[in-house]
Amino acid sequence: MSVFEHSSGESESDELYRVRHSLAHVLAQAVLEIRPGSTLGFGPPIKDGFYYDFVLSTPLTDEDFPEIEKRMRQIIKKGQKFYREDLSAADALKRIEEMKEPYKRGYAEELLSKHGLNGLSFYRNGTFLDMCEGPHVETTKEIPRDGFKLRNLAGAYWRGDSRNTMMTRIYAWAFLDKETLDTYVTNFLEAQARDHKKLGRELSIFKIDNDIGKGLPLWLPNGTVIRDELEQLAKELEFKGGYQRVATPHLARQDLYYTSGHLPYYADGMYPPMELVEHNEDGTGYVKESYRLRPMNCPHHHKVFAAEPRSYRDLPLRIAEYGQVYRFEESGAVSGLLRVRGMCMNDAHIYLTEEQVKDEFKSVLALYKEAYGVFGLTNYKIRLSRWDPEDPKGKEKYVDNPPAWAASEKILAEVLHELDIAYVEGPGEAAFYGPKIDIQFVTVTGREETVSTIQLDFAVPARFKLKYVGPDGREHTPFCIHRAPFSTHERFVAFLIEHFAGAFPTWLAPVQVQLLTVSEQYDDYAKAIIQRLRGKFIRAELASSNETLPKKIREGTVKKIPNLLIIGEREVADGTVTLRRYGHKDQNTMTIAAFESALEQGIRSRSLQLEIAG
Ligand SMILES: [Zn+2]
Ligand SMILES: [Zn+2]
Repeated sequence: MSVFEHSSGESESDELYRVRHSLAHVLAQAVLEIRPGSTLGFGPPIKDGFYYDFVLSTPLTDEDFPEIEKRMRQIIKKGQKFYREDLSAADALKRIEEMKEPYKRGYAEELLSKHGLNGLSFYRNGTFLDMCEGPHVETTKEIPRDGFKLRNLAGAYWRGDSRNTMMTRIYAWAFLDKETLDTYVTNFLEAQARDHKKLGRELSIFKIDNDIGKGLPLWLPNGTVIRDELEQLAKELEFKGGYQRVATPHLARQDLYYTSGHLPYYADGMYPPMELVEHNEDGTGYVKESYRLRPMNCPHHHKVFAAEPRSYRDLPLRIAEYGQVYRFEESGAVSGLLRVRGMCMNDAHIYLTEEQVKDEFKSVLALYKEAYGVFGLTNYKIRLSRWDPEDPKGKEKYVDNPPAWAASEKILAEVLHELDIAYVEGPGEAAFYGPKIDIQFVTVTGREETVSTIQLDFAVPARFKLKYVGPDGREHTPFCIHRAPFSTHERFVAFLIEHFAGAFPTWLAPVQVQLLTVSEQYDDYAKAIIQRLRGKFIRAELASSNETLPKKIREGTVKKIPNLLIIGEREVADGTVTLRRYGHKDQNTMTIAAFESALEQGIRSRSLQLEIAG
C-alpha cells in the first residue's frame, strides 16, 4: 500500500528517507505538546525535508518555530524507539477510533473499503501514535539533531481538495548533517531572493494581469527600459555583423502554416484561428479567411527573402527582427516570464549557400560570445544537438533525408573543432529541420538552462520554394540559419534578473541615477542636474521629497538603483555631488562634470562596474 506519495526521490530503504519520515512524527508529537487538541492530516517526506498538516487548536506562527524545534530535539535526545504494529481491518478501525483523529479515520476507512486493504500499520514512539506504513529509524537517537530546520507555514486543503478543511502545513528542511542543511538553506534563500517573479514585482518590471490574459506579460516602464536597451544592443551587434532589420505582422493567413509545417503538427502550440465570416443573403455564413497568431517568425522572414529575386551575390542574406510571437502554452505550465504565451524573440534568419554555412556559423558564434560577454556571462556549455536515426518515431520528428543530416551535422562538428570549442553531443535533440548548437548556462544558483540555440535548416527553404540564382545561372535552394542569442525577451530578462539579483549595471538599469536632497531647498539644484543628465540621455530622477535622507537612501537601495547622488548644503556651495553606489558603503564627493563623464563612459561601454575615481 502507498499511504503517501513518495516525491522525495529517495528510496524507502534510504537512510535520509527514514530520517525525514521519522522527523515528521517527531514534529507532530512536538506540535501536539504545545497545541493539545489539534488534529492531524498527512506528514510525508518531500524532496528536501518533510511536512505535516494540522488542524490547530490555537494558531501557530513562525515565531513558535524555536520552541517547536527545541521540543523536537528533546524528543530526539530521549531515544524513543519506533514500534510497528500491523492490525487487522477491525482492530485498525478500533485503534483509529481511540486516536480521535477524524481525518485519519476517514482515510483509513477509505483504504479499507475502497482499496480493499485487509489491515493497516501503525507506528508508536513515546506516547505518539500514527497510522503509517513507515519505514522509520530504530530510535529517535538516530536522527541528526542539527540536520533539520522548520521552514514555513502554509495553508493546505485536506487531501488537496478545496472543498475540504483548510489545514496548517508546517514545512521543514532535513538532511543528514548540519553542513548539508546549511548549504542547502543558503542556496534556497539565495534563489528565493533572486526569484524573477518576486523581483519583477518589487522593481516594477512586469505585470501579468488576468484581464489581459494568462502568460501575456505587460512590460511596465522599468521593464520597457530594459527591453529597449537589450534591443539596442542586439541592433548594434547585428548591424556590425551585416544584418538587415525588418518589421513583419504578428499574424498571418492560416495557409502559411501548412506550408511551414506548423500545421497540423504544431496546432496544439498555436492559438486557435481567427475566422473572417462572410454572410450570405439568407443570413447563413461561411468562413472566408482564417488567420493565426504566429508562433515563430521564420515563415514571415522566408517571405521577406522571397519578396525579391535573389542572386548568390546577395548571400548570406541576414534578416533580423525583435519579433513578437504567440504560443498557446498549457494553462498549468504558464509561469512568470519563463513560460509565457506572448513573447518577443531577438530573431534572425540567415539565407546562404552550403559553402557559406561554416564561416557564417563561426560569425554567429562570435556574435553570441560578444553578446554574452556584455553581461559577464562566460559560464556556458555548448551542445551539438543531432537527430536520432534510430528513433522509432523519427519519421514524424525529423525531416527524412539521411544524407542531408549527415552533411549538416558534419559541418557543425567541424565548426566547433576548428574554433577549438569543447562541446557535448545531444543525440535526438535536433530540430525537425536540422541539427543545432545549444548554449547552456549554469545559473548563479547552480541550475542548468538552455538559453539559446543556433539551428541549421536544410529543409524548410525548399517547402517555401525559396530560390537564388547561382553563378551557373541556375536556380538553387538556400540553406537557412535560425538564431536568437537573447532567446525570447521574456526568458532572457527572467535570466538577467536572477543573474544580477535585480541590481542591474548602470547601462541597463531602469533608473540610472537618483538624486536625494538633504532638504527641499536643494531641489532646484538637483533638478538642474537632472536636466543636464537627461540632455545626455541618462535616466535620472529626483527621489520623492518629504522623507529624511536615511529613508531616501533606504528606498533607493531597495529599488537597487545603481547610483544615488546626495545633494546638501556643501554640494550646492561647491558645485559637487556626493555619490553613493549600490552595494558600496563609502561615498565620494566629486564635481558634476567628473560624475557625468564617468557615467557617460560607463554607459557607452556598457561596463559592469562603473569606474569612478572619488
Ligand atoms: Zn511515518
Ligand atoms: Zn526561425
